[in-house]
Order: sequence, then structure tokens, then C-alpha cells
Amino acid sequence: MRTRFSFSAAAGPLPPEVAADVADACRAGPASILSLPFTSPAFRRLQEQTEACLRRLLAVPDDFRVLFLAGGASAQFALLPLNLLGASRRACYVDSGHWSRRAIAEAKRYAHVSIAARAFERVPATAEWQLDPLAAYCHVTSNETADGLQFDDFPALPLPLVADMTSDLLTRPLDFTRLALVYAGTQKTIGTPGLTVVIVHERLLGRTRPETPRVMDYAAQAAAGSRLCTPPVFPIFVAHRMLHWIESRGGVAAMAAAAQRRSDAVYAALDEGHSAYATRIDAPFRSRINPCFRLADDSLTALFLHAAEAAGLRDLNGHPDVGGIRASLYNGVADSAVDALVSFLRAFAQGRRPVRRA
Ligand code: PMP
Repeated sequence: MRTRFSFSAAAGPLPPEVAADVADACRAGPASILSLPFTSPAFRRLQEQTEACLRRLLAVPDDFRVLFLAGGASAQFALLPLNLLGASRRACYVDSGHWSRRAIAEAKRYAHVSIAARAFERVPATAEWQLDPLAAYCHVTSNETADGLQFDDFPALPLPLVADMTSDLLTRPLDFTRLALVYAGTQKTIGTPGLTVVIVHERLLGRTRPETPRVMDYAAQAAAGSRLCTPPVFPIFVAHRMLHWIESRGGVAAMAAAAQRRSDAVYAALDEGHSAYATRIDAPFRSRINPCFRLADDSLTALFLHAAEAAGLRDLNGHPDVGGIRASLYNGVADSAVDALVSFLRAFAQGRRPVRRA
């Protein structure tokens, strides 16, 4: 049967109208986006409009710089300490699950890392965090894609707060008075793989360690308008279209409302079916983007995934290191996909044969 919906965590779908626009722009010919020179005035305009739209959507203050970099969010795990430590050798991190641990492991290659807090079922109150006063920054993963835990808010800290927002940038409004740097790979909520957006306060620039490759030096890239080397032109184009789509839909407030409504519907089905499903995260910190759960009887996981696939619901498996089930509800996921998922969750919990759809 034809697959109807993907809930993949690794990449978010483009809304059909954005996908059609992108496909059109890829057609062979001198105007194809696939061969647009980054040195051309047309690319400059595209990049300026993309940045302007991002700034409007997130209300980015003027004293923050926006960088469009290659290398994926994982590259930032190393580039953050290389760019931000300055004379300090210390950084602190909140350990909240899989992706924060990946960031911590990489940072330990460059810095003395202390754990400010551990956040597994809930994010502890800031008063309980143990901040290293000599740390150059504190890092959080605002939405743990593999574990389904999301910071409900960003704390006001006495040291620069850095947030990996790879799976929730553009799904919630941001208070930049609390943030010094946010970064995100764009493949989930803003388009296609290959681009990482870094939004960084100017006061953090210029602390780069001298051995850092120049193309990975935030200050050097900021000075060169992110064109120190060939920038990822195609993903920037897709981000341009996706950001304007978000704006046309009512902006980040509308994305946040949709994420709340859709995740509420999924968690309601999970809570109603509590004899079939188990969730781990305390309600206020349940991810509104990547709800994660297990089957109460773990041995039914393969059956669940098989039945879901047969019902046209694909890519519901949990992260390989975590297991269980995960339904990713990125900006481009259609409401009809979420409705189909919720019906399936209810039917499966009630032991009904899931409905096959043509
Ligand atoms: N951080 C988070 C929160 C993620 O979800 C991911 C990817 N799933 C990454 C970092 C790594 O992103 P990339 O594969 O672009 O390096």
C-alpha cells in the first residue's frame, strides 16, 4: 500500500506547496537553484531575504548576528567550545539525554566540562542548577529529539546561555534576553539537511581559539557574511521558502499553537491508553515536537510498528540508542497525519485491528 505519512525524527517533511515550489526551482536551465553561484547578486538577495524573514519571525535583536554554516549541528558541538571558550577552559552543560550527551562528549575534547543539572523526567528549577562561575557558557538542548524532553522555558542565567534548538527552532517564540547563542540544523523544522543556522550575540564573537579553522570561526564568518567559503546555497533557498511559509501561516506563534494542540492530542491518546502505553517525562516537559513513549509490553513494539506501517504511518521507531516509539511533529507535518496517528493510537490501545487505508 502507499505510505501516507512519515513521522521521521531525522528530517521533517516540506509542506506540499513548498515542495512543489522547490521542485520547480530545481528544473534544469540557467535559472536553476542547483547552480546558482553564491557570488551572484541573486544569491545575495536570497540570503538577505532569508535572514530578514528569520529575524522577523523570531524577533532577533540587532546585536545578534545570523550565520549560515555547513557541517550540521554536530559540527557545532566542537565549534562552540572552540569559538566561545576564549581564555577560559571551562564550560557547563545540562545533561538531558542523548543529544546533550553527544554535545558534552565533544566539548570535553576542548574544555573542562561540568554538569550544571541533570534533566531526565523534568528540568530542575534553576535554583537547583550548579553553575560553574568560571565557565565561559552554559549549554542546553532545548528539545531532546531522542528522549522527548523539552525545556518549557529558558532560564535567566548569570553566564551566557547556549541552546541547541535543532529540533524546535521556529516552533516556539524565543526570549533573546535570556539567550546568548542558539543553533540548529535546518533539516527538521526549517527545510532540508546541509545548513546550520547560528544566531549569536555580538559580544561572544572574537573569543575564537587560534587553532580553529577559519571557515569555522564565527567572527570570521560573521565578517564575511557567511560567505568565507561557498555557503550551502540549496538549503538556504529551501529555508527561504519554508520561513515565508511559516510567516504566511501566522508565524512562530501559530507554529507554537499547532505544536501544542497536536502534541496534546497525541499525549491524550497515550494517557487514555495507559494500559498499552508508557510515557516517562513529567507533563510540563513533554516534548511538543517529538513525543516519545514505549509500549507497556515492550515485546509488542515490532507489532505496533508493523501495524502502523500497514495503516500508512511510517518512521515511528524510536532512536536506535533509546528504543521505543517516537512521533515527530515538525512544522511541515500535516494535521491530517496527526489525526490519523491519534486514531491509530486509540485503536491499537483498544486492541482493535488497525484500519487499513487505501
Ligand atoms: N542536536 C539535536 C537536538 C538533534 O536532534 C540532532 C539530530 N537529530 C543533532 C543535534 C545533530 O544534527 P546533525 O545530524 O545535523 O549533525
